[in-house]
Order: sequence, then structure tokens, then C-alpha cells
Amino acid sequence: MGRITGPVCRLCRRDGLKLFLKGTRCDTGKCAFERRSTPPGMVQKRRSKPTEYGIHLREKQKVKHYYGVLERQFRTYFARAERGKGNTGEMLMSLLERRLDNIVYRIGFAPSRAAARQMVLHGHVTVNGKRVDVASYLVKAGDLLRIKNRTKSLQLVHASLSANRRDVPDFLSRSEAGVPEGRVDRLPSADDVSLPVQANLIIELCSK
Ligand code: SF4
Repeated sequence: MGRITGPVCRLCRRDGLKLFLKGTRCDTGKCAFERRSTPPGMVQKRRSKPTEYGIHLREKQKVKHYYGVLERQFRTYFARAERGKGNTGEMLMSLLERRLDNIVYRIGFAPSRAAARQMVLHGHVTVNGKRVDVASYLVKAGDLLRIKNRTKSLQLVHASLSANRRDVPDFLSRSEAGVPEGRVDRLPSADDVSLPVQANLIIELCSK
């Protein structure tokens, strides 16, 4: 599957909020959004009044940029959410939140989702004792995530844990004793999503 490439700070400036795509840098004064929150471009301009379509589109783009998914993959999540029982917007956000790269990031084993994705792809993470190298793998309640007991894997995780002291969200738990591991205590709900987004606008846009 493809991934978002290019200067990611522009995405924060375009979407008008901090998406925390650069790890520890996002919490420092070097954050590009903190210094210049105007949209990117040659000429610095103020944010113009968005159209109705623009408002809907921006919500969708925020989510795609935040989770690092491209349009095709996003449409797959949307189709799956639509087929499910319950509120489509909540289902969509829950599916995205269950991605393995997101879980590795939110549990604190990696400084950003991009770094978490890299860790997963390089085989540093196991789920229920089996190596899983698919970043879009959807975790289930009760899944146990472990970091491979290898020097390189442990170095990466310990560096992330000491640099970031983010709170572990309620639906996850983490143990740092010995080889770091984490557990998915329950499936994430819309309330567990840390991105301020109006999912109903995304559903309206994608349902057209
Ligand atoms: Fe966004 Fe992080 Fe760049 Fe700030 S440093 S603009 S939060 S990616």
C-alpha cells in the first residue's frame, strides 16, 4: 500500500491543526505550525472562507493525513464502516484507530505513526506471539503486542519511551518491565480518537 510522502508539516498548515506527524519535534518550538499556521504556498495568505464542499473535504483530508492513509485505502475503510452495524462515522474512526501502526504509536513504542509503520514493516512487532509486518493489520480486543527481543528493536522502543511521555489511551495498557509489551483491553470507540474531527461531514461527503 502506498503512503504519504513529502513535507508533512505542510499538511498541518493546510489542515489548520497540529497532526503530530514528526514525533518529538511536534512538541518543541520547531513545530512549523506553531511558527506559521497559515496555509502553505509561495505567497503567505490568510485562510479564505471555505465552501461547503471545502469544509467536508478538509475533514476527510485531516483524517487521511493523521492516520497516513491514501484515498483508495480510505475508501476501503469507509465501505467496511458502511457495511457494519451502528453509526458509520464512529465505525470508520474505530477502524482507523485499530490499525497496528496507530496502536504501536499510541502505546508509545514509536515517536510518530510513520515511525511506527516502519517498525511494523521491519518486523519489530509481534501480535499474540506472531510477527505481523502489515501496518494496516486491525487489532482485536485482547491482542497482546510485544517488541521482538532483539537489541535493535529494544533500542528503538526504549528511545521512544524515554523521549515521549504521552499518556496511554484508556483502551490500551502498557508494561515496560523487561521486554516492552502492550495489550488492547477493548476496541477503541469514537471517544478514544485524539483527533478533533466531525466524522458526520466525512460520511456525507463519501456517501454522495
Ligand atoms: Fe505538524 Fe509536527 Fe510539523 Fe508541527 S512539527 S507542523 S505538529 S508535523
